[in-house]
Amino acid sequence: MRRVSIFGATGSIGVNTADLIAKAGGADAFDVVALSGGRNVALLADQARRLKAEIAVTAFDDCLEPLRAALAGSGVAAAAGSAALLEAAARPADWVMSAIVGAAGLAPGMRALAHGGTLALANKESMVCAGPLMRAEAARHGATILPVDSEHSAIFQALTGERRADAERVILTASGGPFRDWPAERLARATVAEAMAHPNWRMGQRISIDSASLFNKAMEVIEARELFDFSPGQIEVLIHPQSIVHALVGFADGGLMAHLGPPDMRHAIGYALNWPDRAALPVARLDLAEIARLDFHAPDEARFPALRLARGVMQAGGLAGAAFNAAKESALDAFLAGQIGFADMAPLVEVTLDKLMAQGDLTGATFTLDSVLATDHLARRTTQEAASRLNQS
Ligand code: NDP
Repeated sequence: MRRVSIFGATGSIGVNTADLIAKAGGADAFDVVALSGGRNVALLADQARRLKAEIAVTAFDDCLEPLRAALAGSGVAAAAGSAALLEAAARPADWVMSAIVGAAGLAPGMRALAHGGTLALANKESMVCAGPLMRAEAARHGATILPVDSEHSAIFQALTGERRADAERVILTASGGPFRDWPAERLARATVAEAMAHPNWRMGQRISIDSASLFNKAMEVIEARELFDFSPGQIEVLIHPQSIVHALVGFADGGLMAHLGPPDMRHAIGYALNWPDRAALPVARLDLAEIARLDFHAPDEARFPALRLARGVMQAGGLAGAAFNAAKESALDAFLAGQIGFADMAPLVEVTLDKLMAQGDLTGATFTLDSVLATDHLARRTTQEAASRLNQS
């Protein structure tokens, strides 16, 4: 039986993954090795019991006792903390879902690559912070990284059966989020609840707000570069409000291969779970006559500067991706805490990148997991300081 683990099992991607595994036979069809979560201990314990996992791990030490209590008598081991997460990731598995949110997903995902199996990668932060390390680790152990982000799964599927050299560009689509048509003055006053109200996708809080600011798309542009080795100039973004076409790949003969599907992550997760086969999935079938029209237009980078920042990050290379992600996460924390406004996030990220770049902190250093994590800390501190200054002014 295939041995599978889910990191971030209690999140939006993780719950869908656990449900697909349960629908595909659960503990009768898979050896479920490790499930991880954060503070949602009740859900984690419930999933671990249902899937008969070997071990359930919460990321937070203070959640260990409640997790132990919830698992009492189940035969599932309980553990907590970052060392326990790494130990769980080190348990041999053929297929691992990486769906922790944020840079916290990097180390467990990297550790799981050492099994030489499949890493289903939802945690785009890993590729943005440490794409070259992830690819090198996968190559060293003969592991496969399968994208779970819907756009990257779409690119992966469009490239399947093609010669990579024949692909000359990729187009990632973006719904434009809830603020697609908002004027700049209104953006400045946007609330957390408004930013979370994504028109098409139901996702975790952080990625929903990143979608509203287009930081999510900016991350995806960098992720596409790292996963598929396209140059920055070959990666385009189109606003597509219906979220039906997830990505397109353009080939040397002028042909464009588009991937279409309903906005439902169970397609991309299920594709990664069944790859290289396809299995029936519980997703709606598109009725194109009912949809009737598909709209596309260029993004407005004046209102949404994140895409421009991503291009600078790709040009800089090295540790710029780690700084970009950490600054973005830290700016989002400040927005969630009510410290800064929605429209302050991009300028804060830019100020941080400019400062670290000018200090020479992002170039020259050896590119290792340690230097990535050190850059992550430095960028968070720099962004927090800038946020405090902004708040006082
Ligand atoms: P959620 O916020 O819904 O879930 C995040 C998961 O990570 C939960 O299991 C959470 O635990 C756990 N977690 C939170 N903080 C930590 C921490 N410090 N250390 C370890 N685990 C932690 O996120 P999503 O499922 O929306 O997203 C997960 C990843 O997938 C992100 O990288 C996102 O960008 C990516 N992604 C998500 C998509 C979506 O549709 N949701 C689409 C494409 C990519 P708990 O909830 O128990 O506290």
